[in-house]
Amino acid sequence: MFNLILFGPPGSGKGTQSEKLIARYGLKHLSTGDLLRSEINRQTVLGQAAKKIMDKGQLVPDEVVIGMISSALDDNPHAKGFLFDGFPRTSAQAEALDALLQVKKAAIGVMLALHVSEEELVKRLLIRGETSGRSDDTNEQVIRARIVEYQDKTAAVADHYRKYDKVVMVEGEGTINQIFDALCIEIDKRIF
Ligand code: AMP
Repeated sequence: MFNLILFGPPGSGKGTQSEKLIARYGLKHLSTGDLLRSEINRQTVLGQAAKKIMDKGQLVPDEVVIGMISSALDDNPHAKGFLFDGFPRTSAQAEALDALLQVKKAAIGVMLALHVSEEELVKRLLIRGETSGRSDDTNEQVIRARIVEYQDKTAAVADHYRKYDKVVMVEGEGTINQIFDALCIEIDKRIF
């Protein structure tokens, strides 16, 4: 089983690259943002509570996303591996993920961390907001709040995996295919 975390701030291209990576490597894509938006669309109690937090650009509570990931792992017992996108976003989530994988005698193979400058992130998210239908992409204040959450709580997750020598930085500015090729080089080093 090969599990990877695609890491980086909002707007760094995790969603776009995830789609290409799962197609190439046959991994199961687990995006907590997508799972939460599906709860919102289905108007579940969890979705309604999460929407209020997401619309402010803040993180939903750890136990909510950890529960969603735990169920998703159980629902896919035959997966070749998982690509985690937008998770873990706090140190507590990283520790919970390690424990959940350990039960399955698995671990994170690598964390690929996309690097993109803050001004480029804001620019990309505002452009995405014109078509994504995501309310958290249309307001510059909310976008900046999401970047602050990333710096305050999520950047530390890389330190967690650095301790195990699992983090590789990848340049996240360039064409989609250039970035994809750079990601594939790092994955291929670890699976072939
Ligand atoms: P994303 O689609 O990854 O940009 O996530 C959109 C929003 O969903 C974030 O701004 C958070 O409010 C929430 N969210 C997604 N993943 C997580 C997570 N792992 N922990 C906490 N909140 C999350």
